[in-house]
Amino acid sequence: MSVETPVNETEWTIGRLLTWTSDYLASNGVEEARLASEVLLAHALECRRIDLYARSSEFADDAPLVRFRELVRRAASLEPIAYLVGSKEFFSLSFVVTGDVLIPRPETETLVEVVLDLCKQAGWAQPRILDVGTGSGCICVTLLKNLKNAVAVGTDVSRGALEIARGNAERHGVADRLTLVEADRLALPEDAAPADGFHVVVSNPPYVPKAEVETLPPTVRDYEPMAALCDGEDGLSFYRSLSAGALRILTPDGLMALEVGDDQAPAVIETVLNAGRWSHQATVKDRVVGQDRVIVFAPDGSTDV
Ligand code: GLN
Repeated sequence: MSVETPVNETEWTIGRLLTWTSDYLASNGVEEARLASEVLLAHALECRRIDLYARSSEFADDAPLVRFRELVRRAASLEPIAYLVGSKEFFSLSFVVTGDVLIPRPETETLVEVVLDLCKQAGWAQPRILDVGTGSGCICVTLLKNLKNAVAVGTDVSRGALEIARGNAERHGVADRLTLVEADRLALPEDAAPADGFHVVVSNPPYVPKAEVETLPPTVRDYEPMAALCDGEDGLSFYRSLSAGALRILTPDGLMALEVGDDQAPAVIETVLNAGRWSHQATVKDRVVGQDRVIVFAPDGSTDV
């Protein structure tokens, strides 16, 4: 199938293509190579992944085969599969992704679940949510999709990301309840912050310490936006900014739910509690890696914020 493989293309059934590609990608260091091969072939054939099985003994046409060969070449250089096919599933919704945005991770679904539970428990009639560093919009769009009365503001420093988030909000029918603003951390324009505050501040900030960027897998480090991965400091600077500024924009019964990196939970809890006037409400593990992944804080009720 490769440029180097002198095989007549007409011999390539869908089943054989998958077996060959899966071995080839695995030998190039692609993780979950079988799944990657299926996703790429389904994309090239413009069919669903599940349909590949029924079509296993069919021969692929030339045009999709040419498309597939190009995708496989790029995947073998460790370009993320989600960028190659232009979308990623998150919380059972499909999100458009480009190199402008971090690819939604299954671990982040835990953050969404936690916020959904908190909103249901709190019983706010119209939850007002702020998503700091929204990227593809996967967090705020999923929350809005699942909380019919909620409204949200999503911020990002990247215009490219905001455009993608806008498209995803439209795609999932929540654009009328989402305000997207170009802003760094909590530097919101006056008119973007509701007068009575937000009920929830949620964020999956860039938390990879600068010193650890080199240890990231190449598929992450070389392709995903560095500003979405790393804060350029010790990985805790967003937690410092959020704990310093979020009390001013939260309702007294509001909550702040933050994703953290592997092994970062103790440092994040310490950072936020040191900022003062916060209480630690919960720490929740994700189901993928099994690490403490989401930390929930609330204003501790002391005055003068
Ligand atoms: N979880 C991402 C990774 O796999 C990092 C995302 C982030 O910094 N928020 O590297």
